[in-house]
Amino acid sequence: MNSAANAPSSPKTAPPSGIPGIPEMLPDYSLRARNSFGFEVLAKQAYSITHADQICAVIEDIEAAGLPWRVLGDGSNVILPPLLPGVTLLMDIAGQAITQQDASGAVVSVGAGVNWHDFVIWTLDQSLPGLENLALIPGTVGAAPIQNIGAYGVEVGEYIQSIEAYDCHLKTLVEMPASDCAFAYRNSIFKAHPNRYIITRVHFYLPAAWTPRLRYADLAAAFASDHVPTAEEVMVAVCKIRNRKLPDPKLIGNAGSFFQNPVVEQSQYLRLLEQFPELVSYPEGNEHEGKRKLAAGWMIDRCGFKGLRAGAVGVYQHQALVLVNHGGGTADAVLALAKTIQDNVQDTFGVPLLLEPICY
Ligand SMILES: Cc1cc2nc3c(=O)[nH]c(=O)nc-3n(C[C@H](O)[C@H](O)[C@H](O)COP(=O)(O)OP(=O)(O)OC[C@H]3O[C@@H](n4cnc5c(N)ncnc54)[C@H](O)[C@@H]3O)c2cc1C
Repeated sequence: MNSAANAPSSPKTAPPSGIPGIPEMLPDYSLRARNSFGFEVLAKQAYSITHADQICAVIEDIEAAGLPWRVLGDGSNVILPPLLPGVTLLMDIAGQAITQQDASGAVVSVGAGVNWHDFVIWTLDQSLPGLENLALIPGTVGAAPIQNIGAYGVEVGEYIQSIEAYDCHLKTLVEMPASDCAFAYRNSIFKAHPNRYIITRVHFYLPAAWTPRLRYADLAAAFASDHVPTAEEVMVAVCKIRNRKLPDPKLIGNAGSFFQNPVVEQSQYLRLLEQFPELVSYPEGNEHEGKRKLAAGWMIDRCGFKGLRAGAVGVYQHQALVLVNHGGGTADAVLALAKTIQDNVQDTFGVPLLLEPICY
C-alpha cells in the first residue's frame, strides 16, 4: 500500500550475504493510503519490516532513543491522529506455503504482511477449505489474530495452530501455540498486551474434513435448502453479502464495525426483550453459559443514528454499526460522533458500547 508520495529518496543499503539489514527509515511518511478511514496521517518515522530478523535491531534503536512506537498492518482497524509521533513499523513480511500435509489436513505458514483476502482465496485454490466465511475482511494476516477476526459464525483463532512473534519483553522471536493466545470474541493476548508481541508469521491448521458453516441466517438463505455448497460457493456468497452491506473503504472511508456487539447475561437480555420485543440478538458461547450477543447496529439504528451525518463523518446509511469518513474527516470528529452514540445507547438500553478499532 505504499503511496508514490512516499518513495524513498535514496536506495536501500544492500544487506550483507542475504542477512536482512535494518530497513531504511522513512521520514514524514504518509499513511493516507494505509488507513481505511482515509484520514490524512503522517508518521514521523516509519520502517517497512520485510523480515522477522530486522525487528530486534529496530526495536533496540527505538528503545535506546526513548521513542514511542506502534505496529501497523493495512490500517483497517485503527483510528489514527493527524501526526503519529515516534516510530511506526509497517508489517510487510510476505510469503505463504503449505509446510505439512497428510490425509487429515494441512499446515500453512503465512507472512504477517500478506493480504488476508488474497490468502483466503489462495487456500481455496490449494483445495484447503475452512476460511471461506472470513473472505473479504480487509487487512493483513499478521493482524488477523489481534482481535481474532470473525464473520458469519467463524473466528480465525479456530484455525490457527501457532504464531511466530517478536516478544519485546524477552527480546527474542517466540512461537506460541494457539492455546497460549487467549482467543475470545474480538480479543486475544495480543490485543490485551499491546506492544509486547510483533507477529511475524501465522501457522494455520486446515483439517481435510470439512462441512459448510451456514449458522448465520443471511448466509444460509443464499443456498437452496437441499443444496450443500462448496467452499468456493460459500466464499462467493459471503463476498456478495459483504459487498451489499458494507461500504468499500476505497470508495468511502471506514473501519468496518465501529462498535463491538455487547454480550449480556440472559437475565438482562430477557428484561430488554420485554421492553424491545424486536431486539436483534444471537446466542453466545455454549448453551450452558446462556449469554446473548446483542446486535449493536440494531440498537444504534433504534436510537435514530443510521445515515446521520456530522460534518465530514457520519453513520453509514445501510449499516448503523459502521461510521464513515465522507472526505476530510478526522479521528477527533469520528470519536466525538462515537461518544454521542455510546451515550444514547447507554441511556436507552443500559448497555455500554465498546469501540472495535484501536485508537492511537
Ligand atoms: C470494511 C471493513 C470490514 C471489516 N470487517 C470485519 C469483520 O467482518 N470481522 C472482523 O473481525 N474485522 C473486520 N474489520 C476489521 C479489520 O479488517 C480487521 O481487524 C483486520 O484484521 C485488521 O487488519 P490490518 O492489517 O488492517 O490491521 P491494522 O488496522 O493495521 O492494525 C490493527 C491492530 O493490530 C495491530 N497489528 C497489526 N499487525 C500486527 C502485527 N503483525 N503484530 C502485532 N500487532 C499488529 C496494530 O498495532 C493495531 O493495534 C473490517 C474492517 C473494514 C474496513
